[in-house]
Amino acid sequence: MTGATPPVPEISHDTRGPEPAIAGAPPGSAPCRPATPMMRQYWQIKRQHPDCLLFYRMGDFYELFFEDASAAAQALDITLTKRGQHQGADVPMCGVPVHAAEQYLHRLIARGFRVAICEQMEDPAAAKRRGAKSLVKREVIRVVTPGTITEDSLLDAGRHNFLAALAAAQHELGLAWLDISTGELWLQPLSAAALAAALARVAPDELLVPERLVERGELFEALGEVKDTLTLLPGSRFNSENARKRLEAVYGVKALDAFGDPSRAEIAAAGALIDYVELTQVGKLPRLAPPRRLPPPGADGAIMEIDAATRRNLELLRTLSGERKGSLLATIDKTVSGAGARLLAGRLAAPLTDTAEIERRLDMVAFFHGAERLREGVRRALTACPDMERALSRLSLGRGGPRDLAAVRDALDRAAALKALLKGADASLPPVGIAVSDLGLHDTLVDRLTRALAPELPPHARDGGFIAPGYAPELDEQRRLRDESRRLIAGLQSDYVKLADIASLKVRHNNVLGYYAEVPAGQADKLMGEAGRDLPFIHRQTMASAVRFSTVELGELEDKINRAADRALAIELRLFDDLVGEVLGRAADIAKAARVLAVLDVAAALAELAVGHRYCRPVFEPGSDFRVEGGRHPVVEVALKAAGAAGFVGNDCTLGEGGRLWLVTGPNMAGKSTFLRQNALIAILAQMGSYVPASSARLGLVDRVFSRVGAADDLARGRSTFMVEMVEAAIILNQATANSLVILDEIGRGTATFDGLSIAWAMVERLHEVNRCRTLFATHYHELTSLAARLPDIACHTMRVKEWRDQIVFLHEVAPGAADRSYGIHVARLAGVPAEVLARAEEVLALLQEGDQGSALTRLADDLPLFAAAPDVQTRPKTSAVGDALAAAQPDMLSPREALELLYRLKSLAEEERPRTDKAGDG
Ligand code: ATP
Repeated sequence: MTGATPPVPEISHDTRGPEPAIAGAPPGSAPCRPATPMMRQYWQIKRQHPDCLLFYRMGDFYELFFEDASAAAQALDITLTKRGQHQGADVPMCGVPVHAAEQYLHRLIARGFRVAICEQMEDPAAAKRRGAKSLVKREVIRVVTPGTITEDSLLDAGRHNFLAALAAAQHELGLAWLDISTGELWLQPLSAAALAAALARVAPDELLVPERLVERGELFEALGEVKDTLTLLPGSRFNSENARKRLEAVYGVKALDAFGDPSRAEIAAAGALIDYVELTQVGKLPRLAPPRRLPPPGADGAIMEIDAATRRNLELLRTLSGERKGSLLATIDKTVSGAGARLLAGRLAAPLTDTAEIERRLDMVAFFHGAERLREGVRRALTACPDMERALSRLSLGRGGPRDLAAVRDALDRAAALKALLKGADASLPPVGIAVSDLGLHDTLVDRLTRALAPELPPHARDGGFIAPGYAPELDEQRRLRDESRRLIAGLQSDYVKLADIASLKVRHNNVLGYYAEVPAGQADKLMGEAGRDLPFIHRQTMASAVRFSTVELGELEDKINRAADRALAIELRLFDDLVGEVLGRAADIAKAARVLAVLDVAAALAELAVGHRYCRPVFEPGSDFRVEGGRHPVVEVALKAAGAAGFVGNDCTLGEGGRLWLVTGPNMAGKSTFLRQNALIAILAQMGSYVPASSARLGLVDRVFSRVGAADDLARGRSTFMVEMVEAAIILNQATANSLVILDEIGRGTATFDGLSIAWAMVERLHEVNRCRTLFATHYHELTSLAARLPDIACHTMRVKEWRDQIVFLHEVAPGAADRSYGIHVARLAGVPAEVLARAEEVLALLQEGDQGSALTRLADDLPLFAAAPDVQTRPKTSAVGDALAAAQPDMLSPREALELLYRLKSLAEEERPRTDKAGDG
């Protein structure tokens, strides 16, 4: 390793491991022979943090040197300067002001750097007292990594920031993940096959992995997008026995059974997490909530599984381009507090399969749905409620300030107000596992914090001035002494004006001289030499236009002010520690109240959403039917509304006996993808405990949702569009169960027509016969609809369109039947493809439909089934009696009665030819 960690480091070295080469040392430099004592100290510290940028505190700046400086200057777009020489070469340097350090940290962490914060551990004056050349003591007080940040300015209020660890033991994997900013910790046992989906769900900001694990190719592949967040650690950090002891000590328990008897791999992962937090926080641990354990995927009570591709394709938390705006989460998020937003995002990422728990959540939503005034009251009380969980975590890490105490006070105060609000409704509150009484147990603490804290609060306790007057008499006394001396000094100015006989004399203050009297240069002679012999003024500084003098009296008063200020600050810091101690002593109860606030926020927000957007409560039924009436796509509906377009057309979807697999055909742009996705989203929303965009929804539980929609290259992983499509399809065919819900959009489009059609054909058969899952299959291969004649659980549906004056009008209605045209050229016209190209395309289309290509396709259909394993699939008859009768008919020659008879004859011929596909989609 030759430099500071590059952005998005793949591997970060163990900072306690064998001594590495020093990052940033100039070529040929020997760090063991530094030029100056300060450089010696710098290298000594840097050596312990070779994988980090070292923020080396010097006065009011954090300075960076050598390659750290070059990397940071480039990443932050700040000036790279130099400071002296080291081993004959200039030392590159850049710095960031301490007071603005957070914003720079934010940018560095976002770009994948890790930063070690090295502070001055003593007052420079104390170092000077040891000798003029003594160095100020410095130590790294914290290593900031993407998974260990706690500052509000670095965090997204509505999103968890997870540090995760993956461990293996006895062929099993264990995942543990922790939000250090809230103290929540989860554990889950996993199989290797379930790893990718679990990581996509947790979406950690940093993942700790034992070095040896990533050598297992299949596991490394499963890390997917999370690879960018890896921190590799030696295997010894994942020792499950050490981890067990550590967890028992942290939680003060004798055995971990109380936490659901976690597996060895889970314990090893959790131990590595805690170890890493202690390491980066330099010995400090945040308050940790007891670990919550998720069952392994597929087990009873497990969460609904959604693999990484499905998650991405359905744009649950982020859009395909990575933004929150336009995602399902952004559309449904009506929460008013940060903690509520995080809880909602967590629920959307992990819908449940336990109906009892889902119903409990829905009961809560129903409660607020039917109580408009209460809902409004709750939302008002929670609006901009301070983030108590995060404040509590910062206080527990010793990193909190007076504003965090105020945040706890204000949030507890809101909690008490909410308790009062809900009290009347308490009896009818559904059993949600939360006691409203948890909200209001903190009156004495709120009262004390209210009395203790001043109205205006500084960010850090060390700034002082945050304790309210009247709270501590000894503090008031020191402040009185300080203020009195200040008043005396202010009074001295008029005395000195008279004494010096200089009307413009002013008493001022700066950090170098302290208090001094300043007079215009032209009049200074009056105070100096013989003229000033009997006057108290001592010359200190001559400027171009003014001369400055100190006096013994000013010096004495200043000493008094400083002593009083020092004492006052010491008292304030002691009181701060007392208050923090009191808050932390109640941390478990406060965290409980914070959780209740978040739960209330989510329930009221989902009710608000349901009322505002006309969502209905889903009903869960045994079995695996899926019956949605008037279903809508939540995001498209809102987008259409915002654009002032015509309203969204609701559509039914009934998957079950006789129609478990719907083949959805229809022209381009008719709304097939929208229909497919909306049903997957309805299943997910329902099982996260939300109302759904439909007029009614009766659903059998879904164990997993799969989607194969849209197409994108994954060139970074060496996969073409078609390969990505096939990989995703393979996952579905291999894993979908009879309880799964699968949406497949245009499978097989990325290859030659016959290859694609064959693949799509065989997949429909397999899904129908083997997986037996509920499936929505959208396709432009209209030939597939002939499968409906042979496979009993296939139903054909199409998007209705109307042809009108050479134009087609999309009705966005799903109706039974099949389309036989895609109107692709029409859509190309809408998109602005040049007229000559369109005309030529029409010609080619006509040729293809009449010529060889058409007959080849017809033959293909005749030759089916294509695969030995396929059931006996008959194809569409080549000739049609209905068609023949129609061709022979001469409408202009028919009387009304004959026309009616012809109609009856056609109908009976059609009956004879059944089963045949219908053409409702032809509009
Ligand atoms: P293609 O075959 O070209 O992929 P498609 O049939 O999958 O097209 P969609 O992408 O689902 O079509 O829909 C096209 C547009 O039609 C959507 O962006 C939306 O604006 C509109 N739309 C879809 N469904 C509805 C609906 N039910 N009500 C109103 N508008 C709709």
